Amino acid sequence: MTQSNSYKSTLPDFSSLTAKEAQTNLKSLVKKQRMAIDKLLKNKQKITFESVVNPIEEMQHELSRTFSPISHLQNVLDQPEWRSTYNSCLPLLTDYGTELSQNTELEKAYKTIIDNLDDQKDPKFKLLEQELRNFTLNGVNLTKTKKQKFKDLKTRLSTAEANFSQNVQDSTDAWSLHINNEDELKGISREILEQAKDNQDRWKLILDYPTYHSVMTHAENRSLRERFYKAWSTRASDQAEDTQWNNEENIKNILSLRHQLANIVGYKNFAEYSLATKMANSTNEIIDFLDDLAKKTKSTARNELTILEKAADHNLEAWDISYYLEKTKQQNYAISDEELKQYLPKENVQKGMFNVAKTLYAISLRKNSTVPVWHDSVEFIEVIDSKDHIIGGFYIDLFARNGKRSGAWMDECVIKKNLNGNKALPIGYLVCNFTPPDKNGISLLTHDDVVTWFHEFGHMLHHLLTKIGLPSISGINGVPWDAVELPSQFMENFAWNYEVLKDCSKHHKTEKYLPKELFSKLQASRNFGAGLAMLRQIEFALYDMTIHSAYDIKKNDNTLRTLESVRKKITLIKTPSYNRFPMSFSHIFSGGYAAGYYSYKWAEVLAADAFSAFEDSHILNKELANKFKREILEIGGSKDIMQGFINFRGRKPSLEPLLKQCGIAGASR
Ligand SMILES: [Zn+2]
Repeated sequence: MTQSNSYKSTLPDFSSLTAKEAQTNLKSLVKKQRMAIDKLLKNKQKITFESVVNPIEEMQHELSRTFSPISHLQNVLDQPEWRSTYNSCLPLLTDYGTELSQNTELEKAYKTIIDNLDDQKDPKFKLLEQELRNFTLNGVNLTKTKKQKFKDLKTRLSTAEANFSQNVQDSTDAWSLHINNEDELKGISREILEQAKDNQDRWKLILDYPTYHSVMTHAENRSLRERFYKAWSTRASDQAEDTQWNNEENIKNILSLRHQLANIVGYKNFAEYSLATKMANSTNEIIDFLDDLAKKTKSTARNELTILEKAADHNLEAWDISYYLEKTKQQNYAISDEELKQYLPKENVQKGMFNVAKTLYAISLRKNSTVPVWHDSVEFIEVIDSKDHIIGGFYIDLFARNGKRSGAWMDECVIKKNLNGNKALPIGYLVCNFTPPDKNGISLLTHDDVVTWFHEFGHMLHHLLTKIGLPSISGINGVPWDAVELPSQFMENFAWNYEVLKDCSKHHKTEKYLPKELFSKLQASRNFGAGLAMLRQIEFALYDMTIHSAYDIKKNDNTLRTLESVRKKITLIKTPSYNRFPMSFSHIFSGGYAAGYYSYKWAEVLAADAFSAFEDSHILNKELANKFKREILEIGGSKDIMQGFINFRGRKPSLEPLLKQCGIAGASR
């Protein structure tokens, strides 16, 4: 059998799939699976991994594959029918998932199987261990009434989280600003202005990330920056211009539901519940880790702020920081985003990035234009190994457009599977929100964009290069959440290397490579602002950990006060009283980072440390890359990730490489 077509049958048919059809498919699948599980458990045959776990794995795989286009399309398409389909499928799916995890018969079967397994190194053992923990975390041991309560809480929670995220998007989409005078727009990038301009020479600025970022970083007009800052930081709140999407009640609701969920299965609060599946051992360990990092960072951040204040010659407000950071970078390092961008057309960046994957992991990436996609600008890429076999594929959806969720992410379309020879290749979605191509079709990326793209590509490699055929522990599945950002942040580092960046570059007019001199400036400017950026991330992480660990059900009104107290401890920058950042903090209120935002910093330590091994030898060292692949990228959730790291690095992780990378090392001494 040739492999070339075997994956295509597993892909959603984006040329014809309708929301209605997707919904019908999912509903009938859940119904079918419920019956199949009943039958499976009634069957008095011998209970083995093959007779029980494999069929369940098959079903979970099929379910995830069927739901994937629904959750994906509601994120990237501006079509209400996908959103309503998603909203109607979500409770069904959550319900079914909990029901499965509360199935006492099934848990008993898994216990029997693990008791008969001798080899603790067998991936099967790890899978069973994980699933048994999952049963417990979902209340398998509760009474019938409490089980039902747990299930209700969980369904209500997933609905509240979905509402949260939709409020953020609607509130973002609803805002715009009309400008008639070009003078007011000085500094904003050409591409942004070109898109915002109507045919009567007026500009409609929207609140998508590229526009927001360009205004905050480049707009000379201070009051324009302030208006954008206010619009952005009050999204989905009582302070927004339109308050109909206020997330305040949603947050109260989400925090209360999470707390009750944790309590019902015996955890003191949601933070402890969340840590049950993570690498970190306790909330204290995390808070100490963040405090330590903050302490080591503060003097660097203070110095940066002093430099910015001098440059501004007035008191700095929140909407001045990015602007003067950029300005100071231009002055001190003579570098600008705009100049750099000219060397980074999308096509070349893609080519250079794929070359890195080829050198490091011996895979070729090739576009397949025959695969149906959901938007003209989307590409499908096949991944081919050194023996010329297709081993997976992914979609790339790079550009911002109306109705598309902001941010950048990787998501699974199909998870790798090999169950008794029944195989599926891994397929993923890589989504970003870069500035769309100009009217000549040219898309120039900022260096920030390039770093983001490498980041998501790192997640994608984790998903694609896995050797594990059991879906529950394949790719990113079963990997502790605080280790998930290791492959992505590891990959970011390559976007800061000259050899790599040179290969990614080609001036869109002169066709010249990125000059070494310009790169050196970029490199020198890299760490300017690193202290402030670090503190900001620590602030978010501490807020997240505090709000979930110190939650008090009787006084469920402390969202903003908690943030204020964290800011007092961490932040050096004054925040306006109208700032309602939590109301759009989707990572923790609707994404998977609840009581887990610290994972970014946690994994960044691992990533910087892993990368320092390459810096110590050669940046594109194949042998080292192979080792990284073997110990980290391929294992999914089949082995202990800390052990994998130790195997790769020859020791436990150290904080120093990250501090050094950010130019903070030794600052506290
Ligand atoms: Zn990431």
